[in-house]
Amino acid sequence: MTLETVTPATQSDLIDPFGRHITYVRVSVTDRCDFRCVYCMAEDMTFLPKRDLLTLEELDRLCSAFVARGVRKLRITGGEPLVRKNIMWLFRALSRHLGSGALKELTLTTNGSQLSRFAEELSDCGVRRVNISLDTLDPDKFKAITRWGDYDKVMAGIDAAQDAGLHVKINAVALKGVNEHEYDEMIRWAHGRGMDLTLIETMPLGEIDGDRTDQYLPLSIVRARLLDDWTLTDIPYKTGGPARYVEVAETGGRIGFITPMTHNFCESCNRVRVTCTGTLYMCLGQEDAADLRAPLRASESDEPLQRAIDEAIERKPKGHDFVIDRRTHTPAVSRHMSVTGG
Ligand code: SAM
Ligand code: SF4
Repeated sequence: MTLETVTPATQSDLIDPFGRHITYVRVSVTDRCDFRCVYCMAEDMTFLPKRDLLTLEELDRLCSAFVARGVRKLRITGGEPLVRKNIMWLFRALSRHLGSGALKELTLTTNGSQLSRFAEELSDCGVRRVNISLDTLDPDKFKAITRWGDYDKVMAGIDAAQDAGLHVKINAVALKGVNEHEYDEMIRWAHGRGMDLTLIETMPLGEIDGDRTDQYLPLSIVRARLLDDWTLTDIPYKTGGPARYVEVAETGGRIGFITPMTHNFCESCNRVRVTCTGTLYMCLGQEDAADLRAPLRASESDEPLQRAIDEAIERKPKGHDFVIDRRTHTPAVSRHMSVTGG
């Protein structure tokens, strides 16, 4: 079938074959990072050549094409999004969709290392919430987990974000034998500063140096342990993501659980992911993808791009099938989380 015979792109909302409205796009703006977290990357990584990346202007066009199709939430991620050169240009450009009301939320996930520099400007661009990844409050462990991270810089970044008025959510990956006895302290710390804490199960994405079975800690176990010290009540709170939240009676704060391994949340999936090369992944846990860079570059008109988006959404799968066990040694998908964006 040639492109000419395809129905012209419409500006209708994006709805997948299972009736799910796609209203949330996560965009990875770089695969590079100033950290080398053990569950995310190998220490010696080969990154994409710069020429393969979409320019910031192209990223703006791509995001705007999704906004034109009813996407209401954009999350900028990576790699570390704030190490991409001139990234504030993209935030500034995308903020026009907040101004017009087309976009409800522009946000980012960051390791926090650059927030001292950028928190004010992010706030000025209309960013209201930020997810900061922090797996431990112990500086030595922090070094062991991130390999290259600077704990004090991240703490200063969290301060800067709060000073700039951003709502901070802390994301921590649950790591067996590493941070599993720290959650009580992290709850007290995060809630004491008015921040939610979300715990995430490790997912089998990309080859890393270690063995994932050594790292994997089911959150069902964590939650059961937390009940020894805390009164947790399930609440319907939603941030548009897959986390299920509980309220902690003792602190009044919230804990989110993201459980791709022990609980499949695919039935309510409203999101797709775009990489920094313009590859659209309809599911984090599947290999199927669509190239949006070629249609983006093929024409100044967005029509080929919109058609490619439509065709891809028609292929969005029902769900993923992650397995981490002693028999399954290859990752579910070969790309790293830093490629698809967390
Ligand atoms: N560099 C930024 C950061 O660390 O927040 C943004 C990108 S990072 C890939 C996004 C999130 O994915 C982080 O919270 C990180 O902890 C998480 N992550 C990375 N690899 C993961 C894996 N294999 N399983 C579960 N979460 C992972
Ligand atoms: Fe970098 Fe984030 Fe991956 Fe850590 S989790 S290596 S900070 S991209």
